[in-house]
Amino acid sequence: MKHEMVDLHIHSNHSMDTLHTVSDVLRACEREGMSTISITDHDSVGAYAELQDQSIRKLFSGNIITGVEISCQMDGMICEILGYNFDPTKIEIVTANFLSETQWRQRIVAKFKQAGLSADYTNEDLEAFNLTADLLEDLRELNREALEKMNPNFATSIRAIFRSGICNSKSPLFVPLEEGIDIACAVKQIHDAGGIAFLAHPFVYENAHDMLDYAINHVDGIEVFHPSATTQQREYLLDICKKHGKLISGGSDWHGYNDRPLNSQKIMKGETFL
Ligand SMILES: [Zn+2]
Repeated sequence: MKHEMVDLHIHSNHSMDTLHTVSDVLRACEREGMSTISITDHDSVGAYAELQDQSIRKLFSGNIITGVEISCQMDGMICEILGYNFDPTKIEIVTANFLSETQWRQRIVAKFKQAGLSADYTNEDLEAFNLTADLLEDLRELNREALEKMNPNFATSIRAIFRSGICNSKSPLFVPLEEGIDIACAVKQIHDAGGIAFLAHPFVYENAHDMLDYAINHVDGIEVFHPSATTQQREYLLDICKKHGKLISGGSDWHGYNDRPLNSQKIMKGETFL
C-alpha cells in the first residue's frame, strides 16, 4: 500500500540558507516515497520556474503544490508566513529584510561586538562565508563560554543563537528589522496570488503566544507539525485550529542537514488541509 506521506515545508538553494538544488530535493523526496510535497523557499518562488523544465519535474512522481515562506516582522522580530496553492507567476514578494546578505552579516557582527564578544571580520571575510549559518558557527566557536553564560542554549545550537538571540528583542544580540513588512502584508501577498497563508512554526519564536494572538486574525491556518513543537505544543496548536476554524499544515523544514531530516514529521495527507 502506498503511504500518503506529505512534507509541506522543504527548502532548496533558492533559499539563502540552503545549498542543495531543486533536483536534489526531488530525488530525496522520491527516495522517501512521499506522495505530496511543497518547496517553500525563503522569499523566493524560483523553484517553480525550474519545475517548468520537465527533465527536473519528472524526478519526483508525486504531487507538488506551490509554496513559499515569506519573511516578515512583528515588533522588529522576524517571523515567517507560509503560502500554498497560489499562482507563482502572480505573486510579487516584498520581504522583511531589504538588506543584502553582507549587510545583514555586518549587523550581526556589530551586535556581537557591542555585546562584548569577539567578532573581528573584514567585509571580505564576511563575503567569503557560503552561508550566514557558517558565520554563526564561527562566532559560536570564538565565543563559546561567553555565549553559554548569556544563554545556556547558545553554546549548543546556532538555531538558538538565531531565534533566541538575533531575532529576540529581549536579547543583547537582537538585530531589529527596521523595514520589515508585517504579518498582514505577507498574508495579503499570498491571498492576492490566489493562495492560502499559514503562520510558520509558532514555537520557534520567543514571543510565540503574542505572535499567535496577532496572526490568528490574519492567517488561514497554522503550521502545527514542525520539528520545533513538542507533542504538547502540537496538541495546543491543534486545539487553536479547531477553536478558530483554521487549517492545518506541517513539514520537516528540511534545509538538507541531518539534524532535521526530510519527512521527520511523518505526516499523513488527511492530517493537513490537503
Ligand atoms: Zn522554513
